[in-house]
Amino acid sequence: MAQINDNFIKIPATYLFSEIAKRVNQHKEANPDAPIIRMGIGDVSLPLPDASVDAMIKAAEEQRHADTFRGYGPEQGYAFLRDAIVANDFAAKGLSIEADEIFVSDGAKSDTGNIGDIFSVNNRVAITDPSYPVYVDTNAMGGRAGEPNEQNVWSNLVYLPCNVANNFVPQLPTEKVDLIYLCYPNNPTGTTLTHAQLKVWVDYAKANNAIIFFDAAYEAFITEENVPHSIYEIEGATEVALEFRSFSKTAGFTGTRCGYTVVPKAVMAFAENGEKVALNKLWNRRHSTKFNGTSYVVQRAAEATFSPEGKKQVKALIEFYTENARIIREGLEKAGYTIYGGKNAPYVWAKAPEGMGSWEYFDYLLKEKNIVTTPGAGFGLSGEGFVRFSAFGSREATIEAMKRLS
Ligand SMILES: *Cc1c(COP(=O)(O)O)cnc(C)c1O
Repeated sequence: MAQINDNFIKIPATYLFSEIAKRVNQHKEANPDAPIIRMGIGDVSLPLPDASVDAMIKAAEEQRHADTFRGYGPEQGYAFLRDAIVANDFAAKGLSIEADEIFVSDGAKSDTGNIGDIFSVNNRVAITDPSYPVYVDTNAMGGRAGEPNEQNVWSNLVYLPCNVANNFVPQLPTEKVDLIYLCYPNNPTGTTLTHAQLKVWVDYAKANNAIIFFDAAYEAFITEENVPHSIYEIEGATEVALEFRSFSKTAGFTGTRCGYTVVPKAVMAFAENGEKVALNKLWNRRHSTKFNGTSYVVQRAAEATFSPEGKKQVKALIEFYTENARIIREGLEKAGYTIYGGKNAPYVWAKAPEGMGSWEYFDYLLKEKNIVTTPGAGFGLSGEGFVRFSAFGSREATIEAMKRLS
């Protein structure tokens, strides 16, 4: 008798985006001419940088000819890309990460989701609340989350609330945890941690033999000085932290697919017999067994984001969204809303008017203003009472939305 992994049927159906779609469709049916503006999207809207497209065309042409054709490449990524990552994302910033500590992949969703493969089911997992849903759901699939209650709170996960009371800075857990997911700049709140605030977590991990999974998918959006671009800016982090990066939000690769994970050789965890094991070796084993490498053409596109033209074009993309975020922040503030984030991230986290829940605020914005947002409650219990505005839309739509709210 074939038996399934029962953990999969414990996970409630992802209700957030289907519920949003249902409500938007109902509104459209009742008001066919409603000029709806979508500010709920977590996807980019501007096309790829020219440098990346040109690199893909050149690489595709190489694939046409026997003498330049490439078949299977190294599972961990080509040296040309790993070296470019090391040089530009780390060495240029004074951080010593080596090429064999970089694992190129098809994106940070896969890596943040798959990393649990190399960890025991017995680990206690801490996750900031609200959070990117992948962390919770993949730990549930791996059997580390326990049982969900009717509010979708899992019995074995340790939630780290990020709310107005703590200014969206997660507090250290009162019980001991082993694996800690941190995403900064944060999706969905758009908030950040300073060096000092992140150091608290690195110190905790060192003192407790814990591992930090640092999701830096929005690193490129940082504008303020005291916000770390990499967790390796914190002393000691190369012993306790893995970092996830993505070309998706940085350079518009959401449909092209490329990301990477940093696993420093000094990061250790323990086998059941107490032996210390390097995670770099373990992840290399996992990655090369279950993954056959990111497409050569795509790796060339990613490499091109580090060329002089590529860097200029990527900067322009980020500046465009950053300006949208500024327009949203100022528009919402002028309209009297209390907001967070949006300074170092493409998301603005807006507090619902007093006494209104996430979904009520969502409905109000949809029905009265024809603006689609994402209800904060969909990202976890602490997201209740908020909606997320995304800066990934067009300039025109962003300005028009703020006009409607004024
Ligand atoms: C978008 C996003 C990612 C990136 O996912 P890709 O698979 O690289 O497209 C990772 N983490 C967070 C928090 C995100 O919002």
